[in-house]
Amino acid sequence: MTRRMHESADRYLRSMQAAGVRAVPLPGARTGPEGAAAAPVAPATSEPQGARAQPGKATSGTGRPAASAPAPAPAPGVPASRAPLAGAPIASTQAGDRLAAQAVGLASAGGGGGAAVARPQPAPEAEALLAEVAAEVAVCRACRLCETRHLTVPGEGSARARVVFVGEGPGADEDRTGRPFVGRAGQLLEDILIKGMKLSREQVYICNVVKCRPPANRVPEPDEAAACAGYLDRQLLAIAPAVICTLGATAARRLLDTELSMGALRGRTHDWRGIPVITTYHPAYLLRNPAAKVPTWQDIQRVMELMRTP
Ligand code: SF4
Repeated sequence: MTRRMHESADRYLRSMQAAGVRAVPLPGARTGPEGAAAAPVAPATSEPQGARAQPGKATSGTGRPAASAPAPAPAPGVPASRAPLAGAPIASTQAGDRLAAQAVGLASAGGGGGAAVARPQPAPEAEALLAEVAAEVAVCRACRLCETRHLTVPGEGSARARVVFVGEGPGADEDRTGRPFVGRAGQLLEDILIKGMKLSREQVYICNVVKCRPPANRVPEPDEAAACAGYLDRQLLAIAPAVICTLGATAARRLLDTELSMGALRGRTHDWRGIPVITTYHPAYLLRNPAAKVPTWQDIQRVMELMRTP
């Protein structure tokens, strides 16, 4: 990198600090191989929270309060492009997001990343830790969802996964089988995994924000997501994947502790406790809005890129 690029990067980072930006766009965001950059991008507010809602049913819109999960701690060793700047408040502001979006060009020129991603290491006993979480979830009565569930759905997959997919909550099929993403939305997720990523379900980990089905597939209430937060956090920290991919607004807002829309959150790499986070649409939303598959594929390509990061 030339001296001039270093100076530009410094100015960029200072402007981020002044704006309190929490996530900084990375080089190549929204641009994938095979000319994906020319593909249409879904409107900024196109996915309402409650992506699993059935067609014809009212959804809750985007004005719901986010789950009251604790703000993620600053990650040690995270590159400046992904970490809050020293002394800067952790805040995600609309103004900051606009500024971040404007800065993509500079970041792409070399100021927004390129260094290896520092992240927590997978726990050697990850499998046992996941089994421990599942056993606790099986008897959990920490929120009202326990009253209407049939089976708990803790999550499933590899304890050594390089990617963890986090959805909203179990639906009817999941409630009946105790497995995540087994209905129509699950089939679409499998298509993405098998046909798109050349991975099997067994090679990744799949779970949800809440482990019990909300009645009628409604969006989990903030207190329900908060009650269940410890389980998800422990799963993610045990696996410590190379990347977390959130499916739908509920999961993104829970992990990133934000009210921003999917449109505002997509196209950037976020951070959860040192682990990169990519946000994309919920497969149930894709079933109702096939056009959103194009931007989703762009997001998945970024996930694959991060999976290859040492
Ligand atoms: S949703 Fe989570 S917190 Fe609520 S009862 Fe189920 S496992 Fe417990």
